[in-house]
Amino acid sequence: MSNYKRIKGTKDIFGDEINYWYYVENSAKNTLEKYGFKEIRTPIIESEELFSRGVGQETDIVQKEMYTFEDKKGRLLTLRPEGTASVVRAYIENSLINLGSPQKFFYIGPMFRYEKPQSGRYREFYQIGAEIFGTDYPLADAELIHLLHEFFRSLKLTNFKIKINSIGTQKSREKYKKVLKEYYTPFLPNLCEDCQRRYNTNIMRLIDCKIDKEIASNAPSILDYLDNESKEHFEKLKKYLDILEVPYEIDPKIVRGLDYYSKTAFEVEHLDLGEQAVIAGGGRYDDLVEQLGGPKTPAVGFAMGIERIIEALKKEHIEVKKVSQIDVYIAYQGEQAELESIKLSKELRKNDIKTYLNLSKRNLGGQLKHADRLNAKLSIIMGDEEVVNDVVTVRNMETGEQTKVQRSWVIEVILEKLQEFY
Ligand code: ATP
Ligand code: MG
Repeated sequence: MSNYKRIKGTKDIFGDEINYWYYVENSAKNTLEKYGFKEIRTPIIESEELFSRGVGQETDIVQKEMYTFEDKKGRLLTLRPEGTASVVRAYIENSLINLGSPQKFFYIGPMFRYEKPQSGRYREFYQIGAEIFGTDYPLADAELIHLLHEFFRSLKLTNFKIKINSIGTQKSREKYKKVLKEYYTPFLPNLCEDCQRRYNTNIMRLIDCKIDKEIASNAPSILDYLDNESKEHFEKLKKYLDILEVPYEIDPKIVRGLDYYSKTAFEVEHLDLGEQAVIAGGGRYDDLVEQLGGPKTPAVGFAMGIERIIEALKKEHIEVKKVSQIDVYIAYQGEQAELESIKLSKELRKNDIKTYLNLSKRNLGGQLKHADRLNAKLSIIMGDEEVVNDVVTVRNMETGEQTKVQRSWVIEVILEKLQEFY
């Protein structure tokens, strides 16, 4: 046993589990490209300030979840806890606005948050996110929500719900925050610890508290306090979603944890996941680019958690394709057979056949057992006898059936036999 253990809240991903990751990531790229999104890759480390300014001083992320450390020159760096602030920074720093507006970006990668590890909540986890910069048009919001719906359907998920809300512009929220504070004041001494803190720092978050649910359910609704601009935006969004035939619910309790949202906020909840059920969340953030030093640029985006999506796939018993099955295992014995096998492996791979050339000193029987464990579809067996007769033996690993094939016909025969497996 090694003395080294992975860090709490992180995981190793391998074996059959990888099939799920390919399934989700490839489908996501596919869908995102259908909507005109281009990938952006940003660094995993950024300056601490980007997040304390961008995500917001009073958010859970900045208050208690960030991995922040000093580098050797005493600079304060943070392992990114989310993707949006980084993409905004890159957009400003690289003057991407010059490429014309609007622009659509997506990213896939690990995020880091110091949270209490539990099911659906890790310290290193992966997000797929998308952002649209440079349009305040509610059709952009609708397109993102439609995309999420199409994506989850493309994964064959069915047991999920899309919830939308409007949290108004920052200005229109001031009135609502006052009303909310008044509503909560009599309950204050009995609220949970988080709510007591947020009462002063981030009053909106009280209405999505998972502990004081009852009090939250009777709280005044943000939708009764929207200004005309936000109202109109929300009405249009709903109209577009109807036209796109996206099923949704309106939920005035969705406020999102991040400071930078305005107008539209939305979440996708999976109904089999229990406590950590939100598989995607997003919204509009019309002030963030300017707040981080860029030109005034309205924007909207979402992020989804890959681990939770995979958990949802398992709950719904959705089978995913095995992506890395080996087509042909080459087993050989004897010096001449080895040299022939090496040549053959090169030919097979040139023909896009997934080939595993034996790399051990095991005997033929042992090699075939190995081929079995690797789940190879076919094996090629090459011994002295085969070399002498200029043939190879091809074995179907599923049925055990073996045939002798002329050396010069091997590629053709293999390609034909592989057809039977699709
Ligand atoms: P939660 O309310 O569950 O803490 P959040 O509001 O902090 O979520 P976001 O910052 O909006 O989440 O991140 C978007 C998505 O990323 C979430 O909906 C979830 O699927 C995923 N996610 C967030 N935090 C974690 C985590 N610690 N482990 C795994 N997935 C996570
Ligand atoms: Mg969180």
